[in-house]
Amino acid sequence: MKNEKLFIKKYQLEGRKITLVEIEDIIINKQGIEICEYQESEEELKIIGFLDYSKYADSFIYTDKNHRILFINGNISEENRLFLLLHEEGHVWYNHQPFACINDNLKLENEREADNFANLLFKRNSNLHRLRYFILIAIIFIIVISTMIINLFIA
Ligand SMILES: [Zn+2]
Repeated sequence: MKNEKLFIKKYQLEGRKITLVEIEDIIINKQGIEICEYQESEEELKIIGFLDYSKYADSFIYTDKNHRILFINGNISEENRLFLLLHEEGHVWYNHQPFACINDNLKLENEREADNFANLLFKRNSNLHRLRYFILIAIIFIIVISTMIINLFIA
């Protein structure tokens, strides 16, 4: 069973957060999917017939015989971009069919799965952040306490 833990292992992300740079590297270089911003791709979106769709969805993956393109709205926050890229990566990771974000009820399960994938990795990022903060506080605490003890003995 493919899951987010296998994903972490496969891309050697153990113990660290998944950054925008990292997920973009995986999508572009490891999976050979092009990333295009809506704002720079109006012509292409028109040609493939997804210009209207791009008005109400912030990202989707387009594939045909010769192309694998992840289209994404360029006017969103970095946090949203990371979440959407993780969501789209979820579709790729689970081998969902092309246009998984677009169609009917049959695809709802795929959307749920991709969202779940993104949510788990997103939450993992903030847990790692909290862990690092906790370790830092613990180190400071140990330094302060040992300084106090050393001072006690010197005096
Ligand atoms: Zn989707």
